[in-house]
Amino acid sequence: MKTIWAAQALLPTGWASDVAVTVDETGQITDIADGQPARGHRAGILLPAPANAHSHAFQRAMAGLTETRGPDPRDSFWTWRRLMYRFLDLLTPEQVQAITALVQMEMLEAGYATNVEFHYLHHQPGGVPYYDLSEMSQRITAAALQTGIGLTLLPVQYQFGGCDRRELTAGQIRFGNDPARFARLMEEASRALTALPADTRLGVAPHSLRAVAPESVTEAPELAAGGPIHMHLAEQLAEVEEVQSAYGQRPVEWLLDNAHVTDQWCLIHCTQMEVHETTALALTGAVAGLCPITESSLGDGIFDGVRWLDTQGKIAIGSDSNIRISLSEELRTLDYSQRLRDGSRAALATPEHSTGRRLFNAVCTGGARAAGRNAGHIAKGYLADLLALDDGHIDLAGQSGDKLLDCWIFAGDDRMVTDVWSAGRHLVKEGRHIARDQITAAYGEAIKPLRDAL
Ligand code: ZN
Repeated sequence: MKTIWAAQALLPTGWASDVAVTVDETGQITDIADGQPARGHRAGILLPAPANAHSHAFQRAMAGLTETRGPDPRDSFWTWRRLMYRFLDLLTPEQVQAITALVQMEMLEAGYATNVEFHYLHHQPGGVPYYDLSEMSQRITAAALQTGIGLTLLPVQYQFGGCDRRELTAGQIRFGNDPARFARLMEEASRALTALPADTRLGVAPHSLRAVAPESVTEAPELAAGGPIHMHLAEQLAEVEEVQSAYGQRPVEWLLDNAHVTDQWCLIHCTQMEVHETTALALTGAVAGLCPITESSLGDGIFDGVRWLDTQGKIAIGSDSNIRISLSEELRTLDYSQRLRDGSRAALATPEHSTGRRLFNAVCTGGARAAGRNAGHIAKGYLADLLALDDGHIDLAGQSGDKLLDCWIFAGDDRMVTDVWSAGRHLVKEGRHIARDQITAAYGEAIKPLRDAL
């Protein structure tokens, strides 16, 4: 048993003062009381720590390296794609493990308690499987063992190069599995996860409507066996057009007509939806997995957050390409994108809750759902996924209530995060991950040959 005491805490019932939270050995919250004298670990402002609901960890090593244009001025993806393919010719399991550990460490330091890893890099360069089919899943597991982050692993099924079932290109060959081999991979990955604590989860991710056969999407719930189901959906115009010409419907329309979409599903991006799709998809209870920094970086488009939330749609936040891992900046970017599109202010605020409060509540509960994790609230029976902000910070001192969230998200950054616990594991102290030096050094060593080769 351990106790965390906070001067202020955000509980399901609202803000409370002098709160003592008791956590047992399994990482569950067993007791909460306010008006308590300080004891145990003392924190300033205690919040639930959300899940990072969408990540491709290996792409972190490409961050900042794709900001030039290639020979064709109309092809703005040229440098990104070219570098991605160069990476994919080179990346070893050891490098993937070191990069993933860095990503998970940065997630924790940003205030996330969980890494939902949308994992599609399965095979050797050239596409031959490793001796262990789940070698790369094991590397992600090993990284999570080192960092202590909560892991929801989503092995990704990827079979075709497009809706017309064309062969995978050289850049995609490391991702591919037919359904039989993918089912084996799921079994092996499930065994690998037994090395991790009990809060670990396994789900499944058909990559997108372009990369798998329709039956792989509609049958995903069987493979998921109760775990979360994630899929990229309606990210870019070209994808919408390809799906429309192959299946006669837009991606969201097709999904709603052909799959039994429930709150077990998390659809990633959804930046290209029409009004009727936004409303109908929100009403299924599915979570929209939003990645505002990456979506800005790739020019995907702007998610219709105002309409989605007004239709009671659930959202989660993810760092996707990991070009920058910052929880506060993801939330700020999401609201700012709505303001820029609509010429509005405080776009997602309601009469009851400020922008920061509404966004933060939404991504805590939606993120837990997307991660298949019993978290998202500081409440008895939930996992102790917690983050603490520095109440002595110049922008937070003397503030209370929802203004604390607004000042963190809109005026501050990750430097306000002092502590993070994942299922009770105290992994960030005084703003630093407890193994920061080793993880950072290993990352530097691992990517040296990559940098030299690019
Ligand atoms: Zn993605």
